[in-house]
Amino acid sequence: MSRAWIGLGSNLEEPRHQIETAWSELDSLPETNVAACSSLYASKPMGPADQPDYLNAVALLETALEPLRLLDALQALEARHGRVRRRRWGPRTLDLDLLLYDERVVTTPRLKLPHPGIGERDFVLLPLLEIAGDIEIPGRGRASRLLAQCPSRTARRIE
Ligand code: ADP
Ligand code: MG
Repeated sequence: MSRAWIGLGSNLEEPRHQIETAWSELDSLPETNVAACSSLYASKPMGPADQPDYLNAVALLETALEPLRLLDALQALEARHGRVRRRRWGPRTLDLDLLLYDERVVTTPRLKLPHPGIGERDFVLLPLLEIAGDIEIPGRGRASRLLAQCPSRTARRIE
């Protein structure tokens, strides 16, 4: 089994419900189970500000799906949650990003690993640090160092 870290985000249609149902759907994927889930974090939108605040979380999967098959599965789950892509960084019912997959480095248009936004997003780094400890991000350094250098700091943990 490989270890895959997933970033979850939502700012439409009951974000807490979107994220909580996504956890159980991730656990139901073939050859996959959810080994850990972070707390929920509230954050300000990146990009266009005329949209609701976000809820974010990170999950750790143990999976036998290869990265591209896992990305297929994540995108199918996003579609099931009614996600429509209209504009970059626009509002979404559910965003599922493949943050890390073991120590793999991938640089294709469809899949980049580690996820390129990881170091600029406190709403990814805070929940990641919570369940992964001070994990090494291949080619980027430790999560705590990335957080210390993170340009935007808006995320806060919620109950
Ligand atoms: P964002 O999450 O940055 O707001 P999207 O969710 O709309 O953007 O994803 C845009 C594209 O990014 C997808 O079509 C996907 O193929 C590509 N992509 C590249 N690397 C990754 C990754 N590690 N996780 C998720 N999507 C990725
Ligand atoms: Mg995404």
